[in-house]
Amino acid sequence: MKRFNFYNSSPSILIIVLCCVLFINVVFGSDQQQQQINADPIVDIHIPTTTTTTLADQYKSKIYSDQSLRDDIMKRFQDYLRLPTQHPKPDYATAIDFLLKWTRSVFHIDDSTDPIKEVQVNANLKTGENSILKYYIFHCNPAKPSFIFTWKGRDASKGSIMINSHTDVVPVDKDQWKYPPFDATMVDENTGKGRRVYSRGSQDMKNIGTGYMEALVALVESGFKPERNLQVVFIADEEIGGDDGWECLIQNELWKELNVSFGIDEGLASGLDEDIIPIYYGENVAHWFEITATGNVGHGSQFIPQTATEKIYKLLNEKVFPFREQQQVQMRLQTNNPREKTQCSTVITINLTGLRAGHTNKETGEFSSPNVIPRTATALFDMRIPPHIDLKEIEIMLRSWADFVNGTIKFIEQPKINPVADLNDETVKKFLDIVSSRMKTELRIFPAATDARFPRAAGVNMIGYSYMPNTKVLLHDHNEYLDENVYLDSIVHYIAILEGLLQN
Ligand SMILES: [Zn+2]
Repeated sequence: MKRFNFYNSSPSILIIVLCCVLFINVVFGSDQQQQQINADPIVDIHIPTTTTTTLADQYKSKIYSDQSLRDDIMKRFQDYLRLPTQHPKPDYATAIDFLLKWTRSVFHIDDSTDPIKEVQVNANLKTGENSILKYYIFHCNPAKPSFIFTWKGRDASKGSIMINSHTDVVPVDKDQWKYPPFDATMVDENTGKGRRVYSRGSQDMKNIGTGYMEALVALVESGFKPERNLQVVFIADEEIGGDDGWECLIQNELWKELNVSFGIDEGLASGLDEDIIPIYYGENVAHWFEITATGNVGHGSQFIPQTATEKIYKLLNEKVFPFREQQQVQMRLQTNNPREKTQCSTVITINLTGLRAGHTNKETGEFSSPNVIPRTATALFDMRIPPHIDLKEIEIMLRSWADFVNGTIKFIEQPKINPVADLNDETVKKFLDIVSSRMKTELRIFPAATDARFPRAAGVNMIGYSYMPNTKVLLHDHNEYLDENVYLDSIVHYIAILEGLLQN
């Protein structure tokens, strides 16, 4: 169903719509407000109402009453955080050793009774398999292996559930950290949320990978048997674009074998004093492009008309910056959800990220001829487009911008599709039911790119979800941390999610 498109509506229609909404709310009260909220999934906040005792709840009382269990869980988290998987040279092999050992221990692999049979399938893929498990060590670039394992369900013909996390992390500016960023220092800062672990990757997203592993520990210990296959993916290369990670995996035969019908990838922390967990069902796509204008040349002492730089100035002044301003106004006007008024994922963002003109010294890159008017000038842009926008219309607009300065446009990145998860799909609905019965949630569009875009483009319903309430968003930032209780609670919820999704 196509959503109402505010982009094409006039300001007067907007004002009428907003006034009507206000009038309905004032006059008819909460029923109509509910209807109005339901009409727009983006502003639909679910508040949990039911409490039942489940495996997850039993686990929760166990971890909060057993200090040594808690210490073990935190130690495993710290061990994984300490692995040096930061760019520019992530040590993926060590991470895979760690994960493989852990996986064998989670599933109590006993080589004397149910041995794992290893097969080198081809140069890029090694597998290991027994009656309950199959794992894959896969690479496209030998320096960047990924690790995937399947917890076999009773009925492999049913579509698999997938949990995805990337093993790489971004580099650090270590002088800016309170504690060494790869020591995973755990300190008690009396926050009321347990100890705090400072580490690169503690939010993005080693916490998700280990959190689900801990959930699997609990499920296996309970004797739970999955009805359908679970695919646990630890992928390389996410932080530098995924060429040797997801982009490669999705084109490989292995991807077909995994038979994934629903997947969970990363989300974001909720913010410091915010307990609503964002559920991302799509993301903004990046369009990177440059527009080059060609103009008259001559001596720098003259009033030369129609120069290339003048044309770029005109483009910025009359097209780019007014569009940018209009999108910012629209972001504040289009929603009655106060949190969305500051979220870029509801509109199109655009930033001028590069400018090039003039003669330069080839070796130093410095300008060389101040008295020569350059023939060409180029502006580079980063544009992010939410899924409800027609990408063809955007391309037409951008080409018209290039025509406006009699220039040319070159697309560096221009995805042609941007699908979202189908919110009416049975498994997606089941996931939403599970999380919304346990926590406050809100459906949103992710403002930047994640690996979820690859399986999503291949037709899989992907959700971005990381349980980190009341947590400052610190991905890629200095002093990235996660509080102990937030991490432990995330495991509790992941148990409930996996149990619910895998039981039929
Ligand atoms: Zn990430």
